[in-house]
Amino acid sequence: MPARKRTSKAADKVLSPCEACEDPAGRFYSGLPGVLARVTRDGRALSKIERCDACELFTGDEAAERVLRAHLAQLRRTRSSAR
Ligand SMILES: [Zn+2]
Repeated sequence: MPARKRTSKAADKVLSPCEACEDPAGRFYSGLPGVLARVTRDGRALSKIERCDACELFTGDEAAERVLRAHLAQLRRTRSSAR
């Protein structure tokens, strides 16, 4: 199969969504680009939180987890204040 290699990986990050972590149908779609985790609709993580190795948006699992947890906390606050 033809390999479509691009020279600029950095440009790829911005232009195209990452198939591994930004596919809403994906099993570990967290809602946050660069983070892989199973997340419930009310903003709770059901699995280990990992950074996406495909796009490497975060430097490591810890950074990804920190950002996702902040994101989920915000999400829960928004949901509860909307009622
Ligand atoms: Zn990704």
